[in-house]
Amino acid sequence: MGMFNVVSADASCPQCGDRREVRVQFRHGVLDLHVYRLGEELRWDESSRCAFVRRTTRSWCGGYGPPCEACGYDQEFATYAVVFDGGRVTELLVAPLGQVFPDPVEALPLAENELPSAGPMGR
Ligand SMILES: [Zn+2]
Repeated sequence: MGMFNVVSADASCPQCGDRREVRVQFRHGVLDLHVYRLGEELRWDESSRCAFVRRTTRSWCGGYGPPCEACGYDQEFATYAVVFDGGRVTELLVAPLGQVFPDPVEALPLAENELPSAGPMGR
């Protein structure tokens, strides 16, 4: 049993714009190294975290991706945000160049039209 899940989706590098499929690690739902595609339903069991946001609420958590294959851009922090809606993995967002997403332990609820906001490191 692993410590995280993976979402595999297209994303653009904030530094060079290179767009390709990336595998981003996140912690929400059953943590068993499952590779999700956008639109796929998150899996849960009794030990899953974040039960309060699991099916009814839009929510998000930080994500960790590989260095850019084109330019090497890399951050050791969460430069991705994984968005969940209706119990599904719905969006993969990339922080602007030089910025990161805060990485709360639990996934955070989002209002209907709200998006996770990135900020400078160390915020
Ligand atoms: Zn790049």
